[in-house]
Amino acid sequence: MSKKVLVLGEVREGSLRNVSFEAIAAGLQIADGGEVVGLLVGDAVADFTQELIAYGASRVITVEHPHLKNYTSDGYSQAILAVVEQENPEAIVFGHTSLGKDLSPKIASRLQSGLISDVTEIQGAGDDTVFVRPIYSGKAFEKVKIKDGIIFATIRPNNIPPLVKDDSRTGEVSSVSVDITNLRTIIKEVVRKSTEGVDLSEAKVVVAGGRGVKSGEGFEPLKELANLLGGAVGASRGACDAEYCDYSLQIGQTGKVVTPDLYIAAGISGAIQHLAGMSNSKVIVAINKDPEANIFKVADYGIVGDLFEVVPMLIEEFKALKV
Ligand code: FAD
Repeated sequence: MSKKVLVLGEVREGSLRNVSFEAIAAGLQIADGGEVVGLLVGDAVADFTQELIAYGASRVITVEHPHLKNYTSDGYSQAILAVVEQENPEAIVFGHTSLGKDLSPKIASRLQSGLISDVTEIQGAGDDTVFVRPIYSGKAFEKVKIKDGIIFATIRPNNIPPLVKDDSRTGEVSSVSVDITNLRTIIKEVVRKSTEGVDLSEAKVVVAGGRGVKSGEGFEPLKELANLLGGAVGASRGACDAEYCDYSLQIGQTGKVVTPDLYIAAGISGAIQHLAGMSNSKVIVAINKDPEANIFKVADYGIVGDLFEVVPMLIEEFKALKV
């Protein structure tokens, strides 16, 4: 049976996050010919409605309020629950982002629905939809099917391909007015630690450094390589603990989970906790001077050598190729 699916579009620093378009593609599969309704929450989000439609939403609802300028789970859940009450969707899809991870359990408990988090693949459609998600730190995958009630899923960035953007798509846009009250948290100021460049969790290329990078300056060639490839810089916890870089770059079990098309690990040993955050990357290249390093067990391409020689060589080669 076809379904009505509500998909949350996430606006961050003046643009829609890519995972919003991936969530629409997921929504279309679950909808199975039904309707995908995009939802935008914030203080000024009307400018983004057409983009959600161009990526496949049949219509878009906005909820705007000054208290929604910065994310709070109280404010956003009031806004989203009001829309859910109005629309009665059979399924809800969020991105598995920091916001999605924080908000989805709260909404699910209010709706008394289940929650399938961190979905990397969707098989089937409509009532036969099966959600695939990693378990045991990515060592195995489980398949989950919802028998009854609302289907609620968060999808991991970079796994479900979005539709090709088509600006000729049209759809209805409407707004829901919600009185946001009883906020227990008021955000006075947001101080961002790393605002430059590509968002690590959505990057198609990640160049990550470990303790082998040896210093903050040691990260400079990695940054250059990442910039050249249009990617983001990441790190192991070893590098963060040694204060070579900020913890916002940490990848792994207690850091960010990334699934880029290309992951370059330089001077990272490949501890199980690091692999938990990157082993599902599509192509993994490891650079390590120890041929026995564990990272080579998950690498598609291994380069045994000194990263301070290998990374500059890669930079020169990519420059020559003019990527
Ligand atoms: P090391 O293990 O010290 O490896 C450095 C590597 O660099 C070595 O393999 C060495 O051969 C190589 N090297 C040195 N010099 C060079 C050179 N010039 N050229 C090339 N290679 C060189 N870790 C994470 O990464 N993410 C997590 O989220 C995380 N969560 C954790 C949670 C818990 C509860 C615990 C207990 C640990 C966690 N860890 C995590 C830590 C993890 O166990 C490892 O300690 C950490 O990943 C090691 O970082 P590393 O690979 O950079 O350092």
